[in-house]
Amino acid sequence: MKERRCLYCYQPLPDGVIDFHPACTKKFFGTETAPTLDYDNEQMKELAKEIVIKSVAVTECNQNYH
Ligand SMILES: [Zn+2]
Repeated sequence: MKERRCLYCYQPLPDGVIDFHPACTKKFFGTETAPTLDYDNEQMKELAKEIVIKSVAVTECNQNYH
């Protein structure tokens, strides 16, 4: 049986929860209502990319420090 896991924190999801924990939905999308995966993969990738870009920006800030 396939275990569902949160796409954000990768912890197992309880019954009736789809794709994300409500708390993770809020962290990921900035809203408590999950768009679920009517979202196509491209949009998910874009969102993921934004998060990566933000963490890269932080890294660059640190590198400019010397
Ligand atoms: Zn989660």
